[in-house]
Amino acid sequence: MTKKVLKYSVINLCRFMLAITFILSGFVKAVDPLGTQYKIGDYLEALHIASYIPDILTLISSILLSSLEFCLGVFMLFAIRRHIVSKIIFVFISIMTVITLWIAIANPVSDCGCFGDAIKLTNWETFIKNIILMAAAVTVWKYPLCMVRFISKSNQWIVINYTIIFIVFISGYSLYDLPQFDFRPYHIGANIKKGMEIPPGAKQPKFENTFIMEKNGVRKEFKLDNYPDSTWKFIDSKTVQISEGYIPPIHDFSIQKVGSGEDITNNILGDKGYTFLLISPHLETADDSQLDQINQISEYCTDNGYKFYCLTASTGKAINRWQSITGAEYSFCNTDETTLKTIIRSNPGLLLIKAGTIIRKWSHNTLPDEKQFSKPLEHSEIGTMPKDSVTGKILKIILWYVLPLMVLTLADRTWAWSRWVKNKEKSNKIYQLLKRKKMRKKIVAGNWKMNMNLQDGIALAKELNDTFTAEKPNCGVIICTPFIHLASIAQFLNQDIIGLGAENCADKVKGAYTGEVSAEMVKSTGAQYVVLGHSERRSYYNETPAILKEKVQLALDNNLKVIFCIGESKEEREANRQNEVVKAELDGSVFDLSAEDFAKIVIAYEPIWAIGTGLTATSDQAEEIHAYIRNCIADKYGKQVAEDTTILYGGSCKASNAPELFAKPDIDGGLIGGASLKAADFKGIIDAWKK
Ligand code: PEP
Repeated sequence: MTKKVLKYSVINLCRFMLAITFILSGFVKAVDPLGTQYKIGDYLEALHIASYIPDILTLISSILLSSLEFCLGVFMLFAIRRHIVSKIIFVFISIMTVITLWIAIANPVSDCGCFGDAIKLTNWETFIKNIILMAAAVTVWKYPLCMVRFISKSNQWIVINYTIIFIVFISGYSLYDLPQFDFRPYHIGANIKKGMEIPPGAKQPKFENTFIMEKNGVRKEFKLDNYPDSTWKFIDSKTVQISEGYIPPIHDFSIQKVGSGEDITNNILGDKGYTFLLISPHLETADDSQLDQINQISEYCTDNGYKFYCLTASTGKAINRWQSITGAEYSFCNTDETTLKTIIRSNPGLLLIKAGTIIRKWSHNTLPDEKQFSKPLEHSEIGTMPKDSVTGKILKIILWYVLPLMVLTLADRTWAWSRWVKNKEKSNKIYQLLKRKKMRKKIVAGNWKMNMNLQDGIALAKELNDTFTAEKPNCGVIICTPFIHLASIAQFLNQDIIGLGAENCADKVKGAYTGEVSAEMVKSTGAQYVVLGHSERRSYYNETPAILKEKVQLALDNNLKVIFCIGESKEEREANRQNEVVKAELDGSVFDLSAEDFAKIVIAYEPIWAIGTGLTATSDQAEEIHAYIRNCIADKYGKQVAEDTTILYGGSCKASNAPELFAKPDIDGGLIGGASLKAADFKGIIDAWKK
């Protein structure tokens, strides 16, 4: 594993650990906003400031805290706004670590409430958990960009908004109804009596006795194992609990009748019939909007022989007030406030129990209506446990939250992938173009052949010179003229824009070769190029590969660049021998050159059947053989030289067909005969490189 992979793995592991912790912690708080509010109240109580903070503020804080935790977790999971989210998480955990250290040392609350009622940790366990999270938070805060994104930046807003809406809705719904997931020992289906039982063999609490004894005016402490003899006088003793025993999930449930104080816990829990318990920790602050419904249920109980009690921690005065405003005829009992708050997160809330088992729970907002009480509970749906199981609720969350986000992620990743592929293709194309542009020159060369007298030639060259000085061409331009024009044209031609070349040179250095013009002579006119191997010279003047080889060498020796023509005849094309022919022509005249010299050669593929005939090779035909020629060069000189070699196409090339031909990857321009004799026609072809 490379260092980089290891680094990314560690950072992303920290990220997932933080994300899962925050999501879990935020979610369990969000499904129980009142429970979280009570926990905040406990902290404020420990700080002695609870009385200064109104309940509504602690409730809002509860919803904000759970939503913040959940959102941070989800954003970290998706690697959304990586910089800011990792910073907030770091600050959040830093604050929490300080608080948990305080809790661990001072023990102001028995349970930190980090995971609501879902997971209980001791205060020191909580602190250690926070230290581990702190290390993870520092890691992601230092390298936020190493967190791999699950969703593109442009689509992150969907996750952000959907998550905020989801978690606020869950909080609000749990507040209106009851916690959607009940982690407390009083959940539906729980048997209260069973919850209070201590299983046989359970751990017992341990106590230690200390005896204070005195002898001769000296006081000393003794334990049982070193208890002194009778010469010591007993003064006092202390008993300290040194370890806790097993505490059952329900350990503080009792019901005392108001007035008599009679404990009726066992009566109620042992009753085989139905009992309704109206739970109100504080009658003073209970919601009284559903009083009629509560009274109707109480009457229904009287009519059908079911018990109905109101359990409250409120005193007689509040009970009397409640009775007078509601006309309540049911009995009131006292139960511990915290126990009542734990039983149901609603004030008031309604509990239906049978033989000590909790059958149903309702918040005051969702009390059953008259219709549901039309028959006795034994024959009614509400007399049985509800069908919506925990699995069903989890499935609902998956369907409404997890699945949409998964679909979004999948769509986003597919979209991002297709964009990546497109961009790669585009950059590949650009790269190829740049490479072509950089590596080999695009050229359009004119071959005047035996046309133009001196004056006409000069006039044409001047026109071309003016045209391309005014409007720079997009490729190299060369004019190859009869010998007689060279010296005159070289005088005025701007050879930075238009190169000048001859159409031939002798295969001898110098001497008694009447009528011949040597490469040295050509060079002395100011020309830089020479066309060699043109099919007309091969066929009319019997220029063999061997002669051409000499000419090429002499041209190069005189610093002339060679435009070397190759191409097959009509018969050879018809016999499908074109590849063989061009290969032989290359082998015969230029493939003996060194790579350095070969770099000074421009190849012109000119199918003889297309020269001056009006017939043109199709762009595909031309591309096919150009690619073949490039392959031959690659075989001989290597890929790089082949890539750098300019290969022109010649044969009835015109402004109309040049763009299609030049668009082919292996066609780098043209050698133009007839169409190079008029400035406009020639320019039309050159302009093909602008398209
Ligand atoms: C040539 O002679 O090189 C040539 C290609 O001629 P044309 O363009 O007239 O076919």
